[in-house]
Amino acid sequence: MLAGALAVTTVALAGPAAADGPGLPGPAVPGGLRTGFEASGGAAWTTLEQEQQFLQALDAASARLTVTEVGRTAQDRPLQLVAVGTPQPPAAEAIARGSSVLFTCTQHGDEPSGREACLTLARDLATTTDPATAEFLRTTTVLFVPTVNPDGVAANTRENSQGVDVNRDHLLLRTAEAQVIAQLQRDLRPDVVHDLHEYGPTPDSYDRDLIALWPRNRNLDQRVHDLSRDLTEQEVLPAVEAGGNSTGIYGYRYDPDGNVVAQLAGDGQERILRNTAGLRHSLGILVEASNAPASELEEANPALLNQRRVSTQVTAARATLGMVDERRAEIADATAASPARSAAERTTVAFAGADNALPTPDQVAFDPPCGYDLTAAQAAETAQTLALQGIRTEPRADGSAFVPAAQEARDLVHLLLDERAQEPLTVATPVACS
Ligand SMILES: [Zn+2]
Repeated sequence: MLAGALAVTTVALAGPAAADGPGLPGPAVPGGLRTGFEASGGAAWTTLEQEQQFLQALDAASARLTVTEVGRTAQDRPLQLVAVGTPQPPAAEAIARGSSVLFTCTQHGDEPSGREACLTLARDLATTTDPATAEFLRTTTVLFVPTVNPDGVAANTRENSQGVDVNRDHLLLRTAEAQVIAQLQRDLRPDVVHDLHEYGPTPDSYDRDLIALWPRNRNLDQRVHDLSRDLTEQEVLPAVEAGGNSTGIYGYRYDPDGNVVAQLAGDGQERILRNTAGLRHSLGILVEASNAPASELEEANPALLNQRRVSTQVTAARATLGMVDERRAEIADATAASPARSAAERTTVAFAGADNALPTPDQVAFDPPCGYDLTAAQAAETAQTLALQGIRTEPRADGSAFVPAAQEARDLVHLLLDERAQEPLTVATPVACS
């Protein structure tokens, strides 16, 4: 029933300015709690300064919403967590125990629609008078990092100010941006991580309004994998199609009849958040809105194009909330069983490949070690990353440490410390099972 209510609200909010009327330009915050994007009718993206004003005003206006600084970038911009819950967002421990969804918005600074969608969705969830949504927020905390990469937004670059692609840093955690996301995954244990991006289409063959993909890493828990795939194929893409927009699977090139003819992207790399989220026992989804005009109207009026980029993102995000509402118990069970099984079951480890690409035999540990020894120097160098990844170590008096594989983060232990890993944090000494 609630899913229906959320879906109805989706329609009402399909245009970014719908909440406030016909989209006439008006003042940004203060006043009507509008983003700079909404106030411009879609002609301009919300500036970082406007975002701060908007979030402060929203925090003050709604008990349901809190804004917390969770880190700073290399250029000293704030990294913020927006939490929405009824009657107010619970404490971290309660969020970790309960249902929650984490939206990561604009990891790539030149992909603006994700952060616009997150800002307006956070506002709408926090201020709606719809009783079903208020009730939904009693059982689900909705979390946003509205701007994961503000330095990239300021410079209009994909990478952060150090030139690092944040969405290739979720394993080694060299950037403040990825460190913050890892910390939130560890401490809040979201049931779903929904990652918002944009892409530039190739006419005809790779050209859908919105594309999405589940985690493809081969080490994922099967149920977490399958639920993530359901989220993509049964919820998010159909919801966007129902809104009148075209969709596809991220990475697939289609022929004119809609048949898949090639795969361009979308692999199983564990350093990509879509995959890391799954390895950390959350459902994962990557969503990418097309940034190119899809009609002559959009060609003639960039504001229309921009509104479509944002509205498809909002529809996709609401579809994720709808699935959490409909299949809450199933998702909670799978995301709780996944870490328990990692800790209990020793299985093969794939250092390459994807759910649709077999690794070569030398890229698989069929008899993986039961742990790794770190020298004192290695233990010191890796301590912060291992802690942020939720990896437990057993320190010794001389400063060295043993990292047992039998723990919730088993896959990440191997993927970070084994010499066969694609991108080892350090090459540690394997300890055979006795
Ligand atoms: Zn991106």
